[in-house]
Amino acid sequence: MDWLIEHQQQLSHQIEQGKLPHAILLCGVQGSGKSKLAQWLTGVVSCLAPSKDHYGVFNPCQCCKHCLLINGQTYPDIEQLTPENDSHKVDAIRAACQFLQKTPQLGNKQVVVIEQADKMNAASSNALLKTLEEPSASSMLLLLTDNKSQLLETVISRCQTIDIKPFVGQKLAQIYQLNSQDPYLNISHLKQFSTKESIALTEQLQNHFLLFLAGEYSLMAMAKDLNETDESLAIIYQLVAKLIRQANGWYEPNQCSEYQQVKAYASPASLLAINTLLLKTIGLNHQVQTNRALQTEKCLVSVQQLLNNNKN
Ligand SMILES: [Zn+2]
Repeated sequence: MDWLIEHQQQLSHQIEQGKLPHAILLCGVQGSGKSKLAQWLTGVVSCLAPSKDHYGVFNPCQCCKHCLLINGQTYPDIEQLTPENDSHKVDAIRAACQFLQKTPQLGNKQVVVIEQADKMNAASSNALLKTLEEPSASSMLLLLTDNKSQLLETVISRCQTIDIKPFVGQKLAQIYQLNSQDPYLNISHLKQFSTKESIALTEQLQNHFLLFLAGEYSLMAMAKDLNETDESLAIIYQLVAKLIRQANGWYEPNQCSEYQQVKAYASPASLLAINTLLLKTIGLNHQVQTNRALQTEKCLVSVQQLLNNNKN
């Protein structure tokens, strides 16, 4: 993940200057490397003999007592919190705050990493505020989120924020050696490229949806395709987003073959409406108690209605 290096350089510089803040908020979309960056930082601040590489980035030695304990997941001065039933309970946050008030057992710092920090409710956030306002000298708090807007402003303002922005387009394709010319390729597409089968499946699914938009593929067949895997709707969502970009002239004309196929059937406005429908259905399908097949079918019926209105 080459895009993490600039943040590692900045944090390494802060460590060297003795200016590492007590609380850092790592923001970035799923797959952007938040956990990786947090793991690296906790490793460096805990290691007895970190060394700098030629990028100016500190790295843990991997062989001191602390590094060995960290690798064995038995280092006592690091705690990691993950949400329980989709939320960080106030008791868990309080316990973490108490942990941070203690003197570290082995290292110079004790670290708490809060995964999906946006899953803290108001009570949990408030429990955390005191620690954020009056941190002990040895405490370090790392908050991770892919949804910063859900965090309290009072929490955000007490952290150093690091926005992780993964590469897109050719830069990303190069790193992962993907055969893609799409300038808007982003890390949410990577799964589709993970195996030969998934590349083929993605292509087939997208072709079927283009045919469906053109009225040449039946609703029932499309619904069956979409119910094959949980990822299917997301793949179609990405396709429609691409169609919208093509319709709005974001691509070179020679890269607009998909849009050319459906141009006569789906206006830019109806593509936008279809995208909204897909997003809503993806959201509904994430809920625990939902009839996914039914929601998907409903979505396709609405898409078809939109296209029919388009015709009239
Ligand atoms: Zn070490």
